[in-house]
Amino acid sequence: ATGGGSDIIFRSRLPDITIPNHLPLHTYCFEKMLGLESGNRPCLIVSSTGKTYTYVETHLMCRRVATGLSNLGISHGDAIMILLPNCPEFVFTFMGASMIGAISTTCNPFYTPAEIFKQLKGSGAKLIVTQSHYVQKLRDLNVFGKEEENSTATPTSDDSEEGRGGGMGKGKDLTVITVDDNTPPENCLHFSVLLSEDSGPLEEVQEQPLDDDRKLISSSRFDPDDPVALPFSSGTTGLPKGVVLTHRSLVTGVAQLVDGENPNLHLMENDVVLCVLPLFHIFSLHSVLLCSLRAGSTVLLMHKFEIGQLLELIQRHRVTVAAVVPPLVLALARNPIVQGYDLTSLRVILSGAAPLGKELEDALRDRLPHAVLGQGYGMTEAGPVISMCLGYAKQAFPTKRGSCGTVVRNSELKVIDPETGSSLGRGQHGEICVRGQQIMKGYLNDPEATSRTIDMEGWLHTGDIGFVDDDDEMFIVDRLKEIIKFKGFQVPPAELEALLVSHPSLVDAAVVPQKDEAAGEVPVAFVVPSKDVEVSEEVVKEFIAKQVVFYKRLHKVHFVHTIPRSPSGKILRRDLKSRLAATTATG
Ligand code: AMP
Repeated sequence: ATGGGSDIIFRSRLPDITIPNHLPLHTYCFEKMLGLESGNRPCLIVSSTGKTYTYVETHLMCRRVATGLSNLGISHGDAIMILLPNCPEFVFTFMGASMIGAISTTCNPFYTPAEIFKQLKGSGAKLIVTQSHYVQKLRDLNVFGKEEENSTATPTSDDSEEGRGGGMGKGKDLTVITVDDNTPPENCLHFSVLLSEDSGPLEEVQEQPLDDDRKLISSSRFDPDDPVALPFSSGTTGLPKGVVLTHRSLVTGVAQLVDGENPNLHLMENDVVLCVLPLFHIFSLHSVLLCSLRAGSTVLLMHKFEIGQLLELIQRHRVTVAAVVPPLVLALARNPIVQGYDLTSLRVILSGAAPLGKELEDALRDRLPHAVLGQGYGMTEAGPVISMCLGYAKQAFPTKRGSCGTVVRNSELKVIDPETGSSLGRGQHGEICVRGQQIMKGYLNDPEATSRTIDMEGWLHTGDIGFVDDDDEMFIVDRLKEIIKFKGFQVPPAELEALLVSHPSLVDAAVVPQKDEAAGEVPVAFVVPSKDVEVSEEVVKEFIAKQVVFYKRLHKVHFVHTIPRSPSGKILRRDLKSRLAATTATG
């Protein structure tokens, strides 16, 4: 740690490296693997079919999608939405969009129509890539399709030109593309329209693929500070917001983990990396997909989680690296069926996105002693990894129980007193702040929320409470911010509170986390009913359940006379949490 001015700053034990963050993300990610030899190595394996795409094939598909998106009128600076489970089309679309300077907002396909709509509106996406069975959700939104008033609409004069789909799949200015094998639903286009042959046959592409990439983003237009990904996160407070991640931030974030000598995430070309966590969340998109591409590893895409299938796949494909969340650690550590599988290929298990209990950590270490279990700590806004265990391959720095590793290289971390803002030393608990080129540019169209999160000196305030010990290891002990994490998924209390007070029988509401063995945390509500109105817990729960994705559903509703608030009107969440803890303790 060094003291810069009055700040005590913690840095990685690894030396800084030169990061080529002037490159577009796709060029950087495919850079190493597109040599003639290594280009034929497997890049993606689709777990449901066993189909494999080599690096050259993956790159070719991404380039075709880039051309296809361009033909549909998507250009530099436009946003598109990826509403897909883990599948190769997710990868092709994300990278294809990057190649033309477009921005992907990744959205949970399990979201309700209303939740999708908020992200669609917030991001301004012009095109959605999804599966047929999610199209009904979009129809419920009435955002596309052949409406009377739109059926003849020609938003741009070249709308009827060949290659733009001739108006099909368009309407209300939103193009919907489906990836399934079958014919697309009415008014949607099939993914094959994106796969134009213009990019040339495979052999030619193999020659100079990266030069071609550079042509796709003409150098005069590409700026490393252009956005490339727009995940949504509620951050330290309020509703979900678009997190602007640029080419520079993601290239930096990937390089911090996999580039240079003895990197934190020691991925190698012969690694098979499990991709079961959803790619719409930044942990999987960044630390699994992008890091694997850069390292030349193979990504095993699993479109949904089922423990038996997961174990069978690890065994069959000799998976070496698995990125997981604490509930998955729980399954691996405690589920008796695990013993029936050969998991000896696993050398690294990386847990992130939520706190991992120490007992669970021990239980998994006991069960899979040959694997190194470590934690990464990150936040969407931080681009995303803040700290990660070190030296998996060499085990040069064994991590302690509960440790989230050390801060990533080319980055600064400090711990501040949340009340005074003054910088704290080793062992002292305070709010974690991080600074570096990997952090978000800001929240989309929300300068106020941005300035609440990134201060004038460029420090991103995480809202997490933790400390750094004498060996530079990071421990997260609490959360200052209001976000609830259900199995690593974000549950923003403000969103549920807004829905609750829209119920005619409720006048005030607050939502707080309650500890839960399986999910980590679950949301519970305190509500104030209107005077003289009878309303039951079931009615309130059902009212919410209809409007939100499964993990935001309320597990309990407490009826109260008032919600405790500060003089400025802020909900006193700590009071409610202690009240909850007291009720749980007394049964
Ligand atoms: P998200 O933006 O969805 O990735 O959520 C980020 C938040 O998840 C962090 O600010 C933490 O509160 C929590 N989190 C992520 N990783 C860890 C970890 N390893 N230990 C404890 N909390 C974590």
